[in-house]
Amino acid sequence: MPMGAVIKAIVAYKTPFWRALGFSGQIATDDDTLGIVMEDAAETGAPTLLCFMEGKHALEMSAAGKEVRQKKVIESLVRFFGPDAADTIAYDDNDWLLEPFTHGYVGHMPPGVMTRFGHALREPCGRIHWASTETATEWAGYLEGAMRSGIRAAKEVIRLHNTG
Ligand SMILES: Cc1cc2nc3c(=O)[nH]c(=O)nc-3n(C[C@H](O)[C@H](O)[C@H](O)COP(=O)(O)OP(=O)(O)OC[C@H]3O[C@@H](n4cnc5c(N)ncnc54)[C@H](O)[C@@H]3O)c2cc1C
Repeated sequence: MPMGAVIKAIVAYKTPFWRALGFSGQIATDDDTLGIVMEDAAETGAPTLLCFMEGKHALEMSAAGKEVRQKKVIESLVRFFGPDAADTIAYDDNDWLLEPFTHGYVGHMPPGVMTRFGHALREPCGRIHWASTETATEWAGYLEGAMRSGIRAAKEVIRLHNTG
């Protein structure tokens, strides 16, 4: 299960202008440079839009470099939220493809892996039981999945211990 290609960008604004337009700030699409966008408009600090470039878009944007990425991200936000999206106060991004130890943020199964090997994902090997987010039945790839899988593996071991 290799890591997927993802770049995360954060764009800050003076106000959460998208709310005034009746938008939640959320985008999910596969036909744009930005695949996922969500707002982070906490009580303190500047309101921001968290933006993710994924898959082939991330590969293209990794090769293009930060200056081009910034331009493309703002263009996309204008496409979805209108001209106010161009009025940013700060931009930053992290190209996870260049991170040598993580290389992304979610492991994924290429075609055929789940159907051929999925049955072995949570199968204990003798006394060894498997946790990790990749083995989660919900929220695989995320912290929620990591915790759920830890609880599941612990329960497996307790059950085994109790039944001898
Ligand atoms: C850049 C990035 C951003 C992310 N953002 C989010 C987010 O916003 N929200 C979210 O929910 N999730 C996010 N995730 C995913 C989340 O971090 C992971 O799903 C979660 O940490 C996985 O937990 P885990 O316990 O399965 O594995 P890990 O946290 O990877 O733990 C595995 C542990 O095993 C240790 N280990 C490995 N090999 C050995 C060995 N041979 N012997 C002993 N120890 C070993 C490792 O050092 C590590 O401590 C992100 C991940 C990355 C990389």
